[in-house]
Amino acid sequence: MDVYTLDVKFTFHGKEDTLHPVILHDNYETILVDCGYPGFMPLIEKAAQHQGFSLHNLTGIIITHHDIDHMGGLYEIKEKYPSLKIYAFETEAKYINGKEKPLRLQQAENIYSSLPEDQKPGALQFQESLKNVRPVAVDVTFSAGEKPTCLKGVCIVHTPGHLPGHISLYVEERKTFIAADALVIEEGDFNIANPNFAFDLKEAVASVIKIRAYAIDTMICYHGGMMEKDIQHKLDKLITKYNS
Ligand SMILES: [Zn+2]
Repeated sequence: MDVYTLDVKFTFHGKEDTLHPVILHDNYETILVDCGYPGFMPLIEKAAQHQGFSLHNLTGIIITHHDIDHMGGLYEIKEKYPSLKIYAFETEAKYINGKEKPLRLQQAENIYSSLPEDQKPGALQFQESLKNVRPVAVDVTFSAGEKPTCLKGVCIVHTPGHLPGHISLYVEERKTFIAADALVIEEGDFNIANPNFAFDLKEAVASVIKIRAYAIDTMICYHGGMMEKDIQHKLDKLITKYNS
């Protein structure tokens, strides 16, 4: 299974940023892992082309968790390419397919009244944007530790904390770990994604400890991109930071 990291560049509130979805490719499948904010299809298309892929050739999309920057673009891509299979973790599917209110929206609504007044307009705007994420049916669900037949040599690693149904992917033959939001890279180091808004920070740190046990030569973070040096040492540093 080959792994291609995409660089999806965009500007948000005047700030330049990059997201890093991944394409997993072998002779049978071409699967995109996460797909950006609503309206991002052209950006994903461009980033995929840069790696030699067309979205026409995709066979599926894995959503690592229901956050607006990971699944916001899913509806439009599925609409244009209806044969795509949609994959997600078994406990996350109900938010992606719209059967239950997304946990991030529940969290945003729950903390709203406790926010300082000056943060409330932005928080409301955030809630609105979450409400505008259109649900999509999930075709196949994964369980923890599963090695799906459609993903030869890839292991589904349940990495809760950021959200309870968050998954990462371990590509064994490449020793590549697709962390999604279980880790971010900030100024050359790993960190927990938005620790203040982690659904369960303790669990997020436990997930980092779980990741530490894998033999990893390349770490791919949705926010921050690729890390290829000192991975174990940097994970140790992060674990110590949160456990001391
Ligand atoms: Zn996220």
